[in-house]
Amino acid sequence: MSVFESAAFDNHEGVHAFWDAPSGLKGFIAIHSTARGPAAGGCRMWPYESEQAALDDGLRLSRAMSYKNAIADIPLGGGKAVIIGDSTACKTPALFEAFGRAVETLGGAYWAAEDVGLTPADLAHARKTTRFVAGLEGHPAASGDPSPITADGVARGVALCVRRALGRDLAGITVAIQGVGHVGAGLADRLAAAGARLVIADANPEAVRAVAERTGATVVSPQAIFDADAQVFAPCALGGALTLATLERLKPRIIAGGANNQLGDPRVGQALFDRGFTYAPDFVINGGGIINIAAEIRAIDAGGAYEPAWVESKVARMIQTLGQVFDRSADERRPTHEIAIEIAKARIAAAA
Ligand code: NAD
Repeated sequence: MSVFESAAFDNHEGVHAFWDAPSGLKGFIAIHSTARGPAAGGCRMWPYESEQAALDDGLRLSRAMSYKNAIADIPLGGGKAVIIGDSTACKTPALFEAFGRAVETLGGAYWAAEDVGLTPADLAHARKTTRFVAGLEGHPAASGDPSPITADGVARGVALCVRRALGRDLAGITVAIQGVGHVGAGLADRLAAAGARLVIADANPEAVRAVAERTGATVVSPQAIFDADAQVFAPCALGGALTLATLERLKPRIIAGGANNQLGDPRVGQALFDRGFTYAPDFVINGGGIINIAAEIRAIDAGGAYEPAWVESKVARMIQTLGQVFDRSADERRPTHEIAIEIAKARIAAAA
């Protein structure tokens, strides 16, 4: 198995393999950077086809967390944990207690949170053996469900994009939202309150029904959302919504939504720029969730309580950074996602 030769290694500070025979725990914790503070990132449980696949995923996601935390300007570095296993069949309290012990051995260099395959209940088991876990419930520092903060940041980001690209506010603008789960539904509520018209789609008919009832949104099929007549397209479902093929179909020239990993192909970022789209890079506009987690880590560290005012200041700063990304993209004639990564790297380098 290769660590240092992995394409995703990219100067990671540390890569830790952990193993606990009694519980069957097996996985990695990757710490990309602690320059801006302790590394923080979710723990993912997935039935990886090989140890190399798990390691590569951990390295890739950990570096992405460094950029995301830096662009959100929170005092955290980037890290990620991956547990090899089927989350629908192999989860036990003992496995997460063993995971907690692995996190504890790193002495606070890495804070774990929830990601694919985990729930707050799993984290509560890990919390029995380490204090370096965030995203819990029922204590004064707890930050709760991050999706309302994420949706709030995305709604503000959409408003910024509309102001810059069309010179107007959200009233009367039509936004097509792909996916109305936690983030998409919260976004729909906020945009409707600001006077926007909505076209929505979701693979789950119950989700669209509830949002349409509340907001008066027009419902279309998950396939038809790419052809919606709108000024903004907001991807809020799974990753990979933007491909060269879907770009051909989109009528909106503004793309701003909460989903992670929206660029389904490395060529899409440049294509968005070349074709004149106003694209809010996903890891900039959806930073509200990690800001919320950072507030919890900050409160646990200080032995205090979650502070909504701190979260608000960071979300406002995030929207300011999004504006800087657009300014530089226009000045330097380069895609917004490239500019955003550069800003994140510069902040990490300055802290180091
Ligand atoms: P969720 O599971 O609550 O919602 C996702 C919704 O998308 C579901 O209702 C699902 O049915 C729908 N969906 C799936 N495939 C679809 C398709 N092809 N077409 C239309 N709808 C489809 O998840 P969420 O928490 O709302 O997160 C949404 C996205 O935002 C994810 O990419 C997530 O990684 C990202 N994100 C979430 C947060 C957060 O705070 N929850 C923070 C940052 C990023």
